[in-house]
Amino acid sequence: MFCKENFGTKIGILGGGQLAQMLSRSAKRLGFGVEIFSDEANPCSNLDANITVSDFNHLEEIQHFAKKCDFITIETENIPSGTIKFLEEQSPKKITTSSSFVEISQNRIKEKKFAQSLGITTAPFSVVKSHHDITTFFEENGASILKTATQGYDGKGQTKITNKTDISTIPLNVQNTQYIIEKVIDFHFEVSVIATKQGENLVIFPIPHNIHSEGILRESHIYGKISKQIVDMVSLCAKNVSKHIQHTGTFAIEFFVVEDSIIFNEMAPRVHNSGHFSQNLCNVCQFENHIRAITNLPIIQPKLLHYGKMVNIIGRDIHNLDNFLNANTVQCQAFENSDNFLDKPNNFIHLYGKSFAENRKMGHVNIID
Ligand code: ADP
Ligand code: MG
Repeated sequence: MFCKENFGTKIGILGGGQLAQMLSRSAKRLGFGVEIFSDEANPCSNLDANITVSDFNHLEEIQHFAKKCDFITIETENIPSGTIKFLEEQSPKKITTSSSFVEISQNRIKEKKFAQSLGITTAPFSVVKSHHDITTFFEENGASILKTATQGYDGKGQTKITNKTDISTIPLNVQNTQYIIEKVIDFHFEVSVIATKQGENLVIFPIPHNIHSEGILRESHIYGKISKQIVDMVSLCAKNVSKHIQHTGTFAIEFFVVEDSIIFNEMAPRVHNSGHFSQNLCNVCQFENHIRAITNLPIIQPKLLHYGKMVNIIGRDIHNLDNFLNANTVQCQAFENSDNFLDKPNNFIHLYGKSFAENRKMGHVNIID
């Protein structure tokens, strides 16, 4: 299978962020070439791949890109579904994620309706078209979160509502934007399931306990403390979803845990931040299994090798890291315990090479216990 001639095989990735970067590294390690299509002029600086910068709606450019690739995958659900449909028509053997799965995952309303259609519990929700709709929902459900139905990530596009009198001041742009309102779930903790699908075969990674603040994932813990009952429920849910999607590769589902039940939050038709721990804690990572799945190599049953956690380096955390690298004396503030993590042999640092912005994910550290 791995002969010299096959090393000309190229994987195309739509999107140029850190997920593309890490997919690309796994692909290269398996001997594949990588082409990236990014709609941002400044994607991750160290993508280590050929990059096309253009609009995802520019179908001529997409076609030109597709010609260079043997397989095409995505790193974000925010690819116009028309573009995926175009690839399904023009290059059906190359595109590995379906427009139907992308369309559902990129819209919170469709996503929740999809989950409910499979018998999976979601938070109570309603589609919002006016301030009156928000008031009606709030009166019935109490504390709620208004979210844009599309394009949101890292808590962006979300407004928490705890007070009825604030509702009239919330800016709504119903001409151009779809909104959903959800009841705030008083969860015990959050978990996700990361799974890789290849035909009928589905493998599931160890289940992380995820800690968010201000809507952004901060840490994913793998300490084997989640009850078997919860692990079984989220695994069953992944299997259920897997049977009803057209997809090849890794996907993820986020849940709230309330007592001994789970509530579906959202899903992603791609590798996921809460699966980054697999790079250093497992025998195979989510990126490699994704590349294996789409290139028809055998996917690997993930096994946990070490307990540990993944900690995101967000916004200013990166400056502390810079200070440490330059001066070698400054304590890194990235963690609540101000651990100085650069000199620890069990800390695996992954930096994305992105320009600085507040609240931007700049890298992560996998810490083996
Ligand atoms: P994003 O696409 O930005 O990740 P999410 O819907 O996952 O959007 O929201 C981000 C985080 O905000 C969640 O992981 C959770 O911590 C909190 N959150 C979102 N919706 C709810 C909800 N209905 N109840 C309680 N917390 C929520
Ligand atoms: Mg989320």
